[in-house]
Amino acid sequence: MKTAYINCRIRNSEATAVLVEDSIIARVGTTEEILKEDPEETVDLCGMYLMPSFADTHMHLLGTGRYLSELILNGSTLKQIGEKLKKAEPQNGWIIGRGYSENDFDEGEVLNKAFLDSISTEVPIALTRVCGHKMTVNSKVLEIIGISEDYIAEGARIIFATGAVEENAIPMVHNAEPVPDEKMLKEYIRKASAYCNAKGITVCGSDDFLSVVKNYKPVLNAFEQMSFQEEMTVRVNQQCEFNDAKEFSGFLDEGYTMDVGNDFFRIGPLKMLADGSMGAHTAALTKPYLNDGDNAGYLCESEDDIRLFVKLANRFNMATIIHAIGDKAVDTVLKVFDEEVLEGNPLHHGLVHCQIMREDQVKKVLEKKISCYIQTLFIDEDAQLMKQIPEDLRNTSYPYRTLFEGTIASNGSDSPVELPDPLRGILLAETRTSLKTNEFMEPETEKMSRTQAIDSYVSAGCRQLFMDDRLGEIREGYLADFIVLDNDIDHCDQETLKKTSVQMTVMNGRTVYEKH
Ligand SMILES: [Zn+2]
Repeated sequence: MKTAYINCRIRNSEATAVLVEDSIIARVGTTEEILKEDPEETVDLCGMYLMPSFADTHMHLLGTGRYLSELILNGSTLKQIGEKLKKAEPQNGWIIGRGYSENDFDEGEVLNKAFLDSISTEVPIALTRVCGHKMTVNSKVLEIIGISEDYIAEGARIIFATGAVEENAIPMVHNAEPVPDEKMLKEYIRKASAYCNAKGITVCGSDDFLSVVKNYKPVLNAFEQMSFQEEMTVRVNQQCEFNDAKEFSGFLDEGYTMDVGNDFFRIGPLKMLADGSMGAHTAALTKPYLNDGDNAGYLCESEDDIRLFVKLANRFNMATIIHAIGDKAVDTVLKVFDEEVLEGNPLHHGLVHCQIMREDQVKKVLEKKISCYIQTLFIDEDAQLMKQIPEDLRNTSYPYRTLFEGTIASNGSDSPVELPDPLRGILLAETRTSLKTNEFMEPETEKMSRTQAIDSYVSAGCRQLFMDDRLGEIREGYLADFIVLDNDIDHCDQETLKKTSVQMTVMNGRTVYEKH
């Protein structure tokens, strides 16, 4: 099948048309040249902007699919949350919601167990905070998971009186929730992929093994089946998370390691978490948060455990990427990487998030070429949180431009923390100003240029995932993944960028989204 896309402006090119043959970009040229190739189908793009599709290099596709199926509480006041809960139909006997933030509440409003009990003490209600690192549950949930007093363990905390469930205690709730079967998992993948396609994304790094079910096997099955049946509309590079070292070595034993798979679904790096989130004050800092007593967050994984996993992964040529938000977590990870990462970092061992950092850490990251998975979308929520960070750390934190210029820094959403939205992420990278609160995030010097911001979602993303030899450019022989936008986002002003939307998304030569 030959399809000609004609009369367009093409990013970084003088050409005005593209010929797609099956899944490949067969030719790039002028509209006249391409029409001479006898296409079976012709799509007139009437002067619109055609560019490579976006890569979202760290997200949770399954979690996003589930999120889109659940009660969405983002931006809701407590009163609105109450109304939504009263109207909600329990699914498999539970009411599950996500996305609440105290920042959205009216003064004096507090979300706690008592509030949820006033809705129901019979139906389990579990609500996850916008950051994903804290939940609030009702007494029915505490009863189901067998909690009748405060629970404190390494990196985990449940407060009985308020129904707050934090960090490593969160899986206790998820494990009690009804487990989705494989059909449901595929439905989540489809739902999230369709959402991504509408935002111009056709490739992602996705961390799914533990995010919805505790066991990686049904998740792996669902992805593999969908990839073999060519049902995927987003290419997935799986960032593999495990319950323990035994489970990880069992996975390796089965012959899985980084790069096993195909262009629709491929095993990516090992994924670990070193600390929590900024919003919940669980990200590990070297000094306390301001106005929060002596709380400096905490590590969820010891340095020794991280070393053990990194060594094991390394033996199988598998990179490790580690969630590290606070500078103490970054210290811990960099110490291990300093010992275990080869010169030039050929496997792309990486830091996910890279938020609160000191100058010496940024220097080390660039020196060792540590891969960085950044989320410029976080500026929206985090710009105002910077006031809670010790002042001397602020000027070197969220150092997006420096990281982009000195190593591979690829962008993403960490969805469902923020839903995928590259166009918004590009704008936030350029302005460092929250679109929600209008708050500016220092320092000025870390604003990315427009080209850098776009490339953090395109060339850097494809490079990060080792796909830059076939994705990320409109080039003959490359896979036919591209998007059509109503404006030239490389050269338009910020107001135009804000109004720009994806008109069409093509993945593997197939139209997977069209705006109507
Ligand atoms: Zn994540």
